[in-house]
Amino acid sequence: IAGCRVTVPFGSNKIYSGIVRRVLDAAQVNSNNTAISLHGQIGDSDFATELFSEGKKNIVIKPIIDLLDEAPIITETMFVFWEWIADYYLCNLGEVMQAALPAGLKLQSNTLWTLNPEFEAENKLSKSEMAVLYAMPKNASKTSDELSKLSGIKNVLPQIKKLLEKGALELEVSLSDNYKPKMASFVSVAAEYSTENAMHALIDSLKNAPKQQAILMAVLQFGLNNFDTPTNSPNALPKFEISTKDLLSFSGISSAPLAELVKKGILLKSFKRVERTDTVETEIVGINPLNDFQQEAYRKILESFEKHATVLLHGITSSGKTELYIHLIEAQLQQGKQVLYLLPEIALTEQIINRLKKAFGKQVGVYHSKFSDSERVEIWNRSTQSKTGELTKHTNVEEFADYKLILGTRSAVFIPFNKLGLIIIDEEHETTYKQQEPAPRYHARDAAIYLAHLNNAKVLLGSATPAYESYMNANIGKYGLVELTQRHGNMQMPTVEILNTVKLRKQNRMKTHFSDPLLIKIKQCLTNKEQVILFQNRRGYSPFIECSDCAHVPVCEYCDVSLTYHKYKNILSCHYCGYSIESLKKCPACSSTALETKGFGTEKIEDEISIMFPEANLARMDSDTTGNRNAYRKLISDFEQGKTDILIGTQMISKGLDFDNVSTVGVLNADNMLNMPDFRAFERSYQQIMQVSGRAGRKNKQGVVLIQTGTPDHAVIQNIVKGSYQNLFVQEMEHRKMFKYPPFFKLILFNVKHFDKPLTDRAAESFAVLLRSRFGNRVLGPEYPAILKIRNKFQKNILLKIERTAPLSKGREIILQALEEFKASGAFNNVQIIINVDPY
Ligand code: ADP
Ligand code: ZN
Ligand code: ZN
Repeated sequence: IAGCRVTVPFGSNKIYSGIVRRVLDAAQVNSNNTAISLHGQIGDSDFATELFSEGKKNIVIKPIIDLLDEAPIITETMFVFWEWIADYYLCNLGEVMQAALPAGLKLQSNTLWTLNPEFEAENKLSKSEMAVLYAMPKNASKTSDELSKLSGIKNVLPQIKKLLEKGALELEVSLSDNYKPKMASFVSVAAEYSTENAMHALIDSLKNAPKQQAILMAVLQFGLNNFDTPTNSPNALPKFEISTKDLLSFSGISSAPLAELVKKGILLKSFKRVERTDTVETEIVGINPLNDFQQEAYRKILESFEKHATVLLHGITSSGKTELYIHLIEAQLQQGKQVLYLLPEIALTEQIINRLKKAFGKQVGVYHSKFSDSERVEIWNRSTQSKTGELTKHTNVEEFADYKLILGTRSAVFIPFNKLGLIIIDEEHETTYKQQEPAPRYHARDAAIYLAHLNNAKVLLGSATPAYESYMNANIGKYGLVELTQRHGNMQMPTVEILNTVKLRKQNRMKTHFSDPLLIKIKQCLTNKEQVILFQNRRGYSPFIECSDCAHVPVCEYCDVSLTYHKYKNILSCHYCGYSIESLKKCPACSSTALETKGFGTEKIEDEISIMFPEANLARMDSDTTGNRNAYRKLISDFEQGKTDILIGTQMISKGLDFDNVSTVGVLNADNMLNMPDFRAFERSYQQIMQVSGRAGRKNKQGVVLIQTGTPDHAVIQNIVKGSYQNLFVQEMEHRKMFKYPPFFKLILFNVKHFDKPLTDRAAESFAVLLRSRFGNRVLGPEYPAILKIRNKFQKNILLKIERTAPLSKGREIILQALEEFKASGAFNNVQIIINVDPY
């Protein structure tokens, strides 16, 4: 059946699993020469490529060894969605499948499986399942290939699949996974002791074991204090569970006597998944009524949905876009529909979850990125309805089984839905929605719009600074457009002041990277107990160091970039490949000790501010300080609680965070954003500065944004001062049209890579010729990108600019032809060509 997993032999003695796409009858087989069209090998992209590039050529018909599923794990709609992604982003279906399926469904040959220590067989295992289970060592993990050898069973995938479902095997979860759910143990009172009388009798009988007595007394007290006794039988104890950890700290007793009680069967132990965030129960506050402007916007959105599948909500920061989402979600839930809520960053889910919980309480199952892989598999199975029966034992998914609201980052577009009504894409302009590596290099916003189309659902895009694509689509009537131009309550937009660093430097009013007016303002805030945010879009201490004697700059061994100095860790590191070395004391070229740091990043700002304002509490937020989730949460909550006076950070601080005591936002260097070698530099600078500015302002007091720049008359800066998104948009559109850039033209980037530089050059040249013969002057390059070499591979880029209105499928076909011809020439066998559609 199409959509089921099967195993097939491949090559001489390899066995792969794949998903059946289509079953053909004998006549079709004869004409097509293929028995089934297998959708790529799960786990081995070479095989997938092979299969797809074979295309119309003869495929040897192979028998299917095993059918792994009784019912499809993929719906037809999902197949169509996958196919669209593969088509549009010029990749193969195997790659889409890789991205889409939870690891537990992939049965990849390189996936590591481990024994579930909690497993107890409830149903009988088959002989072959036992063989696999016994072959599995206790304290190690094994791949399916290894298990095949150990158990002597050639094709172990069906057994692995069964053992997974029964909970005997688990996917090995890497320890570095910060989002792994936490399991905690709980105890409850065994049924026979669950009356007060029985409990007292039991406690009395344990005279010789005072510690066990104390534990039971603590259990009893906890139950009676926190739960209501059942009304029908007053002597009965309430049913409850207490976490082992709480119990031990509550009773002050060590764990040995507790273990004894569990052993005797008096207390029952169980494991449950606890959400790391849920230490405090959120109270349901209900949904805020909309203010007049929001009410009007809400009405317009609904009206607009009658004509448009996609609506863009252009609302300034703090205008209440999130409040509108909540109202729209509620309406969908009432109709029994599902909502997909996309966020640009995983770290943001927590805050939104809390807001949603306040609005809806627990009745809304929220599927989010913290779910473990086994839970994903469970949810996947339920919504594709392949399993009607049992839940696997070790997941705790019942409460989420009926999930209606799905919160997630870009990969959430691959979650299966059956009643999708609405997709909300918050901060739709964010670049994190685009996957760059590996394929499929998809844009979640664009994919979501297609997904909604397949499901007959609506899409709401929300942003204070929409992507130019989206805004243009709204202007030409392809999307609906609804605006919110007032902040909620009596909050006002902050005033913006420009500080001309060139002039101030001449007047001797710059101290290193800080202008006098900015420093005075910071001082003032500290005195008034108001908070400050300082924004610098570069992490580390300084982007490079330079020898003052010979001008040597240390660069990465593998990439053509200078190494960034990180003072705190005392290392020089490459921001492209992660290579790092201990910081240098002497110049490697001339041994001089006169090494100077050049430029500045967030670390240096922190360093200097701490010297200038020793009394202030500082915190820094960038990807170096938020490596794990708790660190991120602590930074945010310390700032919210006023423990931090000055928060220094990269654009990370500008995303969706609401603080209410920030009076000043300082942008330290607007120029390095404006000068990025990217046709979107102005669009992005405007977005970033406006987003971070949006953090300024308090309930009853207007905030201030101070922008340091050497080019105060720059169009971007001027439009930021005026808060005119529209002006800059119109002006930029002229340029984009003139120079054939999006949204008027579609870009496809071909990134040619190889270890050998001359070979890379020749390959790129030859491929460009092939493209040019087909697309003419729409082909630009090959050119060296800004960074010539990354991870030891040289690269050259070819850019194809296609008219927006050109038919997609035609272009795709021609490109594939050109690739085919390139490969057929045989001269560039190991040269990689990475295709990136809508690359920027
Ligand atoms: P946006 O998503 O546009 O930045 P938010 O929805 O986060 O705006 O609203 C900003 C702040 O104003 C939040 O703290 C929110 O709770 C509050 N707010 C907005 N609208 C309302 C409303 N109608 N009633 C109560 N509070 C509101
Ligand atoms: Zn030197
Ligand atoms: Zn590097």
